[in-house]
Amino acid sequence: MARLSEYRRKRDPKKTPEPFAGRRGRNKAPIFVIQRHAARRLHYDFRLERGGALASWAVPKGIPVEPGDRRLAVHVEDHPLEYATFEGEIPAGQYGAGTVEIWDSGTYELLERKRDGGLTVRLAGERLQGVWALVPARLDGDPKNWLILKKREDGKA
Ligand code: MN
Repeated sequence: MARLSEYRRKRDPKKTPEPFAGRRGRNKAPIFVIQRHAARRLHYDFRLERGGALASWAVPKGIPVEPGDRRLAVHVEDHPLEYATFEGEIPAGQYGAGTVEIWDSGTYELLERKRDGGLTVRLAGERLQGVWALVPARLDGDPKNWLILKKREDGKA
C-alpha cells in the first residue's frame, strides 16, 4: 500500500512492536483513535480511518474540548489501520520512542470535506462526542501545520 511507504520507511518491524502491514477497511462506520504518546515530547495522535489507512495528526497540546478552541495539529504520514489498537512501548532509539496509550477511540461521521482538504467530523468516542474540524492552516507557512478546532454541535463557530 503506497500510502504507507513513509510510515514503513521510518520503522524496522524487527525492532518495534508497532504494526507494519496495512489492511483494507471494511464496510462499516469509519473509526477514529486518539493515542497519548509520551515521546520525547508528549503529544496526542489524532487518527481518522480514510482510504484503508489512518490519516494522522500530532496534537502537542491535546484535543480542544470547548467550542471555539483551536490547537496546532501537525499532519503526519498515514498509519496502517492496525495502529488504531496499538498500545505499548516503542523502544529507545526507534522512531517515536516512548509509550503509546489509547486515550479515546470510536467511530466518526464525515460531515464535510473541503476542496483544500479540510475536514469536519462528528466523533462518537468514549471520551469525546461532538464536532471537530481539521483545517489546513499552513501556520508559519508550513503545509503540515494544520489546526484542530472544536465546533458547536451545529457545526458552526
Ligand atoms: Mn506520535
